[in-house]
Amino acid sequence: MLIEKYSIGIGDRFGKEGLAQLGAIQQAERAGVVVAPVWNKSFREHSLIGTRPDDVRVEADDAVRRSGWRHGYYVDADHIGLPNVDGFLAASDFYTLDVADFIGQPPDDAALGAFVRDMAPFRGALKIPGIDAVFEVTDAVLEKIGRSYLVAVLEAGRTYRHVLAAKGAGHFVAEVSTDEAMDPQLPFELFFILAALAREKIPVQTIAPKFSGKFLKGIDYVGDLKVFAREFEADLAVVKHAIDVFGLPSSLKVSVHTGSDKFSLYPIMRRALQNQDAGLHLKTAGTTWLEEVIGVALSGPSGLAIAKKIYLQALPRFDELCKPYATVVEIDRAKLPQPAAVEKWSAQDFVARLRHDQSQPAYDLNLRQLVHVAFRLAAEMGAEWTEALSAARETAGRCVQENLFDRHIRPLFLGT
Ligand SMILES: [Zn+2]
Repeated sequence: MLIEKYSIGIGDRFGKEGLAQLGAIQQAERAGVVVAPVWNKSFREHSLIGTRPDDVRVEADDAVRRSGWRHGYYVDADHIGLPNVDGFLAASDFYTLDVADFIGQPPDDAALGAFVRDMAPFRGALKIPGIDAVFEVTDAVLEKIGRSYLVAVLEAGRTYRHVLAAKGAGHFVAEVSTDEAMDPQLPFELFFILAALAREKIPVQTIAPKFSGKFLKGIDYVGDLKVFAREFEADLAVVKHAIDVFGLPSSLKVSVHTGSDKFSLYPIMRRALQNQDAGLHLKTAGTTWLEEVIGVALSGPSGLAIAKKIYLQALPRFDELCKPYATVVEIDRAKLPQPAAVEKWSAQDFVARLRHDQSQPAYDLNLRQLVHVAFRLAAEMGAEWTEALSAARETAGRCVQENLFDRHIRPLFLGT
């Protein structure tokens, strides 16, 4: 099972937008680009909402059947590890093996020694086609990389083999993610991470490194675009080279976990993909949930009241909601609109603040981030939320589809 050149990881908190999401992907297909959909949901999301991986499988299969999608599609066990992978084994055929927590744990001397010995052929000047810089690889460099990443790779191997035993070879795609690490990985570190993964016999097809800059939930990239461009281009070159050198799957590509909506990066990524004829997996996380809130707000007075209620309930529960996302939200609490003001808003007032349109002066990135992490409040509302969403079906579906196609797929995969 080799993943397509382009794929997009789409989140759907409540599992109602599969058809709308696929609608956006079919728009791309009609425009000439196949982008394989990958429905991703992490253990954390499932726990917060009270859904199960099998629900995602049902949603994906149903959307594919109803839309007539003829290309590949996947269900991603997102950011899993050995302790929580079992619940995903029936439903998922894409596994994001998250080993970020194991980075920096020192390996034992024997394991480290064996790694350095196995990497000995790469000692000296390491040149990677497409990268101008030359890396001087010494035993000390290899030891440092081994100390940082070897334990993480060995852990990925344990999880991979666990999935392999259950699913069988060729029945799933393996991604390895280090994007939730503390520090970005340098391109030559990525090279040796891929070397170590190949050595561990993990046929990794997508690799999600951590880049410089901030990838906050639901808002644009915060950081130096030139630095990102350099890192991204170098990582593409490393991946291409690693396929040849380590015999990794020909489908191996970079996976960018965006936390959604890194609009300023799309033109940079597109240019680099074109220049290097490279594939990409893009994870967009939770934009769909925010589009649902927008759709519900636009659906009529009772929908608007429920959309406002989510925000108003989120205000006093700020700490609790932000806690699981502490490193990926940055909300200026003092700037959050207060209840008295919110109550007066029309649907347009609310949507102008929430929708990710940076040309709109009312756009409010503090409010947007808070609503982004407030999805569990909708889960707690139960039928009140799902009925509002059903009543807003057409509007919400249109918002989801337009957002995914116009703001994400088109600029990145079609360049228009
Ligand atoms: Zn991630």
